[in-house]
Amino acid sequence: MRKTIIAGNWKMYKTIPEAIELANGLKRELFELDGQTIEIVLCPPFTALSEVSEVTQNSNINSGAQDVYWQEEGAFTGEVSCKMLKDAGAHFVIIGHSERRQFFGETNDSVNKKLKAVLKNGLIPIVCVGESLQERELGKTFDVLNNQVHNSLKDINKEEMVRTVIAYEPVWAIGTGKTATPKQAQEVQEYIRGLLVKMFDKETAVSVRIQYGGSVKPDNITELMNQPDIDGALVGGASLTVESFSEIVKRAQKVKK
Ligand code: PEP
Repeated sequence: MRKTIIAGNWKMYKTIPEAIELANGLKRELFELDGQTIEIVLCPPFTALSEVSEVTQNSNINSGAQDVYWQEEGAFTGEVSCKMLKDAGAHFVIIGHSERRQFFGETNDSVNKKLKAVLKNGLIPIVCVGESLQERELGKTFDVLNNQVHNSLKDINKEEMVRTVIAYEPVWAIGTGKTATPKQAQEVQEYIRGLLVKMFDKETAVSVRIQYGGSVKPDNITELMNQPDIDGALVGGASLTVESFSEIVKRAQKVKK
């Protein structure tokens, strides 16, 4: 049985006071939900990570970072290590988000290095994969996913794979208001799980949680969660208010897998 995981990616939004307010609001709104059945993760900008971790400490909510660098320390201006993230109270790290791939030169190779560092440091990685609109229109979706999954998850063992969360985020659905239909998302996520069977084994593949991300809202979360290979969501825009994110979490929790 895979535990549902809903993560909010706050991107480059929220000052420290705003982040504290949002985290407090979510804590109040979601405190009754059973942490045994759903995992809730907030990924604020680095600047607010300590504060959000402090607010969510001893609650059913975890904090996470939006990126990390694989080196332990050194002359790497602007970068943040796993140890620093742990120090700030993070438990999760998003790796390879499409915005990082698109604007900051992230590649499958750098994603793989980050993944290994995150696993070694006992943090939980959320590895993002997904095709662009052009790739989908050219019929290359499965090829792209095959390449991203194989190369991003290269040389990790089964135990590490089970600890890793995958987020399938079609680039054309991120921040555009266009959601993949539940059928489209299920088709790709089933394919990704099939890749994991080949790369690892069936037992490993059925244990890995695969989230969907791309314009997830309270209105579409139930139908998405009803798909057998969708184990949660990575939410951008709709994670920025207490009302929409808490509603997404509550509706996701109601879907019995
Ligand atoms: C994201 O940032 O990972 C994302 C899916 O954004 P949005 O929900 O706004 O499409």
